[in-house]
Amino acid sequence: MDKKEIRFKRAQNKTRNYIFVVGGVMSGVGKGITASSIAQILQARGLSVTAMKIDPYINVDAGTMNPTEHGEVFVLGDGLETDQDMGNYERFLNIDIPGINYMTTGSVYRDVIEKERSGGYKGRNVEVVPDIPLEVISRFEKAAEAADADVVIVEIGGTVGEYQGVLFLEAIRMMKARAPEHVAVVMVSYLPVPGSVGEMKTKPTQTAVRALNSAGVFADFIVARGPLPLDEKRKDKIAQFCNVKREHIISAPDVASVYDVPLNFEKDNFSKHLCEVLHLPCTKESDISAWGRFVQKTKKPKHAVTIAVVGKYFSSGDFILSDVYLSVLEAIKYSAYSLNAKPIIRYFSSLDFEKDPKKLNVLSEVDGILVPGGFGTTGIDGILATITYARTKKIPYFGICYGMQLAVIEYARNVLKMKDAHTVEINPKTPFPLIDVMETQRDNVKTQNLGGTMRLGEYPAHLKKGTIAAAAYKKTEISERHRHRYEVNNTYVERITEGGVIFSGASPTGDLMEILELPKTTHPYFVATQFHPEFHARPLAPHPLFTAFLAAALTQQS
Ligand code: GLN
Repeated sequence: MDKKEIRFKRAQNKTRNYIFVVGGVMSGVGKGITASSIAQILQARGLSVTAMKIDPYINVDAGTMNPTEHGEVFVLGDGLETDQDMGNYERFLNIDIPGINYMTTGSVYRDVIEKERSGGYKGRNVEVVPDIPLEVISRFEKAAEAADADVVIVEIGGTVGEYQGVLFLEAIRMMKARAPEHVAVVMVSYLPVPGSVGEMKTKPTQTAVRALNSAGVFADFIVARGPLPLDEKRKDKIAQFCNVKREHIISAPDVASVYDVPLNFEKDNFSKHLCEVLHLPCTKESDISAWGRFVQKTKKPKHAVTIAVVGKYFSSGDFILSDVYLSVLEAIKYSAYSLNAKPIIRYFSSLDFEKDPKKLNVLSEVDGILVPGGFGTTGIDGILATITYARTKKIPYFGICYGMQLAVIEYARNVLKMKDAHTVEINPKTPFPLIDVMETQRDNVKTQNLGGTMRLGEYPAHLKKGTIAAAAYKKTEISERHRHRYEVNNTYVERITEGGVIFSGASPTGDLMEILELPKTTHPYFVATQFHPEFHARPLAPHPLFTAFLAAALTQQS
């Protein structure tokens, strides 16, 4: 047997373990962070761990969803457009995760129907139960094989009791029936403290556990989220009414920072108890020292740095939605902490700058300005005004995707005097189509073939020596994740370059502009990328371009 075969044999005989994380009572209490933290504390035990997310909606992926409704679309290396929790997994585990680890109800049904159409069920009746849960289970197993994982953490979106989650609970029930000693169920619940009573209430948790039980699934652990830690009395009550061992009830009160969660879990010996339930030899001492060092850095930084993020998706009714740019905000934080600086991030909706241009002056109070990605017309004039402000007032600027395309437009209009220059995404009739639809995208745009068809995922780029970009990366060959349909129009590259812009990164064939910058002689730091560097930023590996931007912002300050 050669090495590959041996590995395959070993993989075949390996016992895979599954931890399902479900939500009770209500959503938005940190199920994703709980799942990521569980994954991390098991990884710290030396186990090979991967994480999956199930979203219960019919959309095949998260790509076509409005970010103000669904939050950020996180792009995986293989190009799948997913939920922001996949980003949490990659960041907490410091690994790349493949598309097989993400599924929606829509994607499951689509595959079952396609299999039926191509004779995959050999003419038999194909039914919602068991065929849908069986397809779900086969994906769990594929993800486990792909990662050669000892443990797969699976987060089920939504809350137990919702109609749309029933088939996923059925898949868990079937898994538990097959191998009860290798499946654990964790319910993340919420224990409110109503102001009028002033006492922490366990009843919603009891009700949620019953809803879970009625699907034939029983919780092994309850993570008790709430504004306060769980006291002994309530621990007893939950243990008594919910059939969960006392030491399997994990208190998870609100914390100042989500990075504290894995460390807090270990205070309750969570990883040890999980290993016991899964019959895993939990011999290796938990080693969360690297994470601990990162968390330490976040506690008492020496400096502070203020970054303005100017985006078009911030407003949601009377609320500000920062989740839309989650990975960007996280990337800023990691680089700031690595420079021993506290990140102060201020959010601005570009629409506000449009309505009242005087408001732009608040940008004089920040050390750096970042414009993240986006689509369509709304709020674009506010973004262009922001870029003019950053460029002319010499405030460090970092543009991502749309933030690069619009930087080209801004420069062309105001420096190169190309009146009405635009991206054809907004003005198809512009006299200067500086940003044009990519050749490969023309048909998709024409026929509205919009799902999963952008230029997505990891692509290589080559950097010019001696540029800000090459200095930041400390190398000239890079690979980054993408999500776009438009690009810098090559017809104009020469003219823009002659006009003072440096294209410091391009695709290996040289025909797709990936990074632009202004020389240090004209601006302290003006860099923009066609790709999304934020998807590679990790707490334990901050992204070099974010770090260079933050360093420039700190210099600006002094
Ligand atoms: N709307 C632009 C494009 O499709 C930019 C996309 C983005 O910012 N992700 O190319």
